[in-house]
Amino acid sequence: MAGISWHYVLKFIITGDAAVGKSSLLVRLTDQRFLANPDPTLGVEFGSKLITIPEENKIVKLQCWDTAGTESFRSITRSYYRGAAGCLLVYDVTNRTTFENCRTWLADVREHADPHLTCILVGNKVDLCADEGRRREVPTEEAELFAKEEGLLFVEASAKSGQNVQEAFEQATRDILAKIQRGV
Ligand code: GDP
Repeated sequence: MAGISWHYVLKFIITGDAAVGKSSLLVRLTDQRFLANPDPTLGVEFGSKLITIPEENKIVKLQCWDTAGTESFRSITRSYYRGAAGCLLVYDVTNRTTFENCRTWLADVREHADPHLTCILVGNKVDLCADEGRRREVPTEEAELFAKEEGLLFVEASAKSGQNVQEAFEQATRDILAKIQRGV
C-alpha cells in the first residue's frame, strides 16, 4: 500500500450478538475470504481497508474494530465506541433473537457513541436462506421498517458469499462523507 494516500480515515465498529458473523464480515471485507470454522477464541479484532467512493472522487481508509468475542464484557464499550464514525449493527437473518437484541445494542451505541454516528443494520447469512432452504426468521420488510423507524441504513448480506459486504461499508461511508460535507 506504500504510496497510496487517502482523503479520510474513518473508524468503524461492528456490534451485535455473538456468532452473527461480525468477524466474518470483517475478514470478507479486508481479505476477501470466508472461514467456515473460525476459532471463536481468536476473533479478528481489527482490519483496515481502502475503499474508493467514485462519485465523490475520494479514497477512504476504513479502520474497523470488531468486538472479537467480548460481547459480554460491557465495560469495554466506552473506549471501543470512542471516535467511531460508522457502526455495523449485525444480526443473523435465521436467528430472530439476534435481531431482537439489536434494540439493546442500538441503545448501547446511542448511549456511548457520538450522536452523529452513522449506523447500518446488517442482516447477515442470507446465503443460508437461498442455498440451504433454512428458515428465515426475520422478514426483510420487518428489518427495513425497524431501520427506518430508528434512522438506520439497512442491507442484507452474506459474509460467506460476499454479497453486499463491501456495499454495506460503502453505503455507510457515503452517508458519513455527506455529513462531513454538511459540516455535521
Ligand atoms: P461473530 O462471533 O459475530 O464474530 O461471528 P463469526 O464471524 O465468528 O461467525 C460465527 C459462525 O457463523 C462461523 O461458523 C461462521 O463461519 C458463520 N458465518 C458467519 N457469516 C456467515 C454467513 O454469511 N453465512 C454463513 N452460512 N455462515 C456464516
